[in-house]
Amino acid sequence: MASANATTNPGDQTMTDGMHMVVQTMLKNGMDKLYGVIGIPVTDVARIAQGKGIRYIGLRHESDAGNAAAAAGFITGKPGIYLTVSAPGFLNGIIPLKEATENGWPVIMMSGSSSRELIDMGEGDYEGMDQYNYAKQFAKAAYRVDKIEDIPLAFARAIRAASSGRPGGVYIDLPGDMLGQTMPQAEADQLIYAVNDPAPAVIPSESSVEAAMKLLASAKKPLIYLGKGAAYAQADDEIKQFVESVGAPYLAMSMAKGLLPDDHPQNAASDRGATMREADVVVMLGARLNWMLGFGKGKQWNPDVKFIQVDIDPQEIDNSRYIAAPVVGDIKSTVKLFNEYLAAHPFKADPAWMQGIVEKSEASNAKFATRVNSTEVPMTHYNALGAIKKVTDANHDVYITNEGANALDICRDIVDMYLPRHRLDCGTWGVMGVGLPYAIGAAVTTGKPVISIHGDSAFGFDGMEVETVCRYNLPVTVVVLNNGGVYRGDFENLGNDGDPSPLTLSAKGHYEKIMEAFGGQAYYATTPEEVEKYVAEGVASKKPTMVCCELSIHSGKESGHISYLNPQPVTGPLAGGNEMEDLNATGQIG
Ligand code: ADP
Repeated sequence: MASANATTNPGDQTMTDGMHMVVQTMLKNGMDKLYGVIGIPVTDVARIAQGKGIRYIGLRHESDAGNAAAAAGFITGKPGIYLTVSAPGFLNGIIPLKEATENGWPVIMMSGSSSRELIDMGEGDYEGMDQYNYAKQFAKAAYRVDKIEDIPLAFARAIRAASSGRPGGVYIDLPGDMLGQTMPQAEADQLIYAVNDPAPAVIPSESSVEAAMKLLASAKKPLIYLGKGAAYAQADDEIKQFVESVGAPYLAMSMAKGLLPDDHPQNAASDRGATMREADVVVMLGARLNWMLGFGKGKQWNPDVKFIQVDIDPQEIDNSRYIAAPVVGDIKSTVKLFNEYLAAHPFKADPAWMQGIVEKSEASNAKFATRVNSTEVPMTHYNALGAIKKVTDANHDVYITNEGANALDICRDIVDMYLPRHRLDCGTWGVMGVGLPYAIGAAVTTGKPVISIHGDSAFGFDGMEVETVCRYNLPVTVVVLNNGGVYRGDFENLGNDGDPSPLTLSAKGHYEKIMEAFGGQAYYATTPEEVEKYVAEGVASKKPTMVCCELSIHSGKESGHISYLNPQPVTGPLAGGNEMEDLNATGQIG
């Protein structure tokens, strides 16, 4: 092995360096896109990557770069990858790494860092920080590469850790001096390899499959719950066969929407609350019994409910309650085995159970439709999103990214999805600042039109990425539903200093001007007809487009559908819900 710090170049040997080796390793592993924010010491990594045919997408904030890469990970099932500079860039990039880990999405963060000896001696380097040791706490795995020869191994370990089991975020620390190390190209070529089978199938035990199917067969009122793990698993055909052969109602968590089209006759979304309270056996496919599902207990659920839980992560079982039939396996392999078992031992849910849900859904949908199709102005979230629904109903292949409180909850309920992995939103943590970077990741990954739907508050976290959308001419239509505040715009200052309330933002702001500033198509909409027209234009043109929608400042509910998570002041509620917006067709949280 040549010295990593080779200073001589014997004969006519061609040399390579750490930066080229990173790029070569990425290419060998099929990583053809890189998101990032460059600076010392990684600028040339991005330049070299671009020069070698990797598409480099430079965003305006490291958190956005990470979220764009994470979106690519969810959509493709392969780790997206992003690059940040040292210390502050690193810290900004940690947020999406942790978020991806919470979501169970594969992503790799590479960050430049200081030379290790300067950090270990605390000598006060430029942007000096012990990044590797901080990153460990927020990542599924972390590696620091001290020798150029270890670059291929670091990537292999990172790709494997990010994609196998429950996917997550992995950190690779690239000290600047290591990036500058050199070695003979011929020796580097020998070291670089493509990872073999990075996410091996996890086959469940026969006995767990049998126990699960026997429990299902005992159900009077079975329910199938699809989560984003099921969407991620790319087991679309197996899941469709399972749901349809059992004939049970199903519910889809937010990012599992479209795994089966939302207009599927077994979709119980419009009667969600009652279906959950009545179901006696629930099959959880890639959905966690976390806060979004009331931890699988409490008044949301039938007190006698029994769960069949399919998850790739054995530690997820019994996470918050007793699980009667755990099945530890990957969803594709597991549901295939379910289908084989059911072919030999057919089970069909009582059609009366499904029929009852269908009838109640029709009544609920009719009530909801009045609000969604209303022409009232100023608009509400309901009729503004109803207008967008008309566009998406005519364009099933559009990706939706979505963030906010009411903008999230009401969009999830109104805008139907027809294809898997086409909806990306605030996710397991319920975070803001993901909408536009997810839109960028989805557009770059698929080339398909994206509608990025934001509340006016949420847009503040990632709005500068409009410039990125324009710079790369991405087919993204950005929609801001402006009701003038966090949650809504009619809250008052409880003091007398004359400042806006803590929740107040600019009700009459022209957010679309930011798109105009960078050369995109910019519209201001005050009616549902205008919203539909402009959003349809954006989608059809596949050009950067922005539609700022003026909503009533009274539209919206404090904390959206999760106001119960707020502590109550001793003086009693200061604001709380808004009667005007209390109607909720599905009562869905997740
Ligand atoms: P949701 O928020 O939609 O309810 P969660 O993110 O809470 O979904 O749950 C997804 C679950 O799916 C996680 O527990 C994760 O371990 C699991 N999972 C992810 N990929 C797979 C897979 N291929 N097979 C089985 N389970 C998976």
